Amino acid sequence: MDTASTAVSLDAVEKVYKRGSTAVAALAGVSLAFQKGTFTAVMGPSGSGKSTLLHCAAGLDEPTAGSITIDGVDLRGKSETELTLLRRDKIGFIFQAFNLLPALTVTQNILLPLQLAGRRVNKNLVQQVIQSVGLAERAHHRPSELSGGQQQRVAIARALVAQPAVIFADEPTGALDTRTAGEVLTLLQNAVHQSGQTIVMVTHDPVAASYADRVVFLADGRIASEMYRPTASAVAEQMTHLGDAVAGRPLLSGGV
Ligand code: ADP
Repeated sequence: MDTASTAVSLDAVEKVYKRGSTAVAALAGVSLAFQKGTFTAVMGPSGSGKSTLLHCAAGLDEPTAGSITIDGVDLRGKSETELTLLRRDKIGFIFQAFNLLPALTVTQNILLPLQLAGRRVNKNLVQQVIQSVGLAERAHHRPSELSGGQQQRVAIARALVAQPAVIFADEPTGALDTRTAGEVLTLLQNAVHQSGQTIVMVTHDPVAASYADRVVFLADGRIASEMYRPTASAVAEQMTHLGDAVAGRPLLSGGV
């Protein structure tokens, strides 16, 4: 693997949760790389391990086994403080809930993480990003004066101005109507194809996944298949084959 072009890689990652006398392998050996400048969707039935994958890949949760590398940095053995700094410097997050601060304007919300990190603010870049997400006319508005789609654009701009090694998006269009969702997904696509951003998006929506370059399907904590240049119908079709994750999940007995 060409590590210089890899934003995030997971090598034989396992995550086991104890449940009484048994344990559940939420991730049962996942090896996966996200190349720089690519847009990947992660899909799978409920309980297949998508959130666990996202949390481990973002250094929010520690795998039971295996290793994770973000922008060339191996997360193993890092302290909580080191992980916090690494996330701050290298990772952007976009959630279903926009998580904006109501008292701040659009521009202030976008700048806040940079300011908290004590980073220099490149005004040209900030203007460019605000323009690219179509918020130039709204820069001085507060979140309550914006539609849901516009609020998610603010959250996207906030992630983009930090120019992170990777942006993790968790159901970013889950709270939006179909048309607005399409606009937001197109913005994410542009950030990847025009600005070279790397995005990993967890979604259950085949239409949302079809905006990605590649879809990784999880089932039972393992990679079931992958698809490049996905179409919504091909993704939906693939999902029907993944079945009920809970039925097939490996239950490890005994103390783990
Ligand atoms: P998905 O995001 O695809 O719905 P998750 O990653 O949330 O899947 O969960 C994968 C499996 O791990 C499920 O069986 C879930 O119940 C289990 N799991 C996830 N988080 C925990 C936890 N904190 N404690 C115990 N089990 C968990």
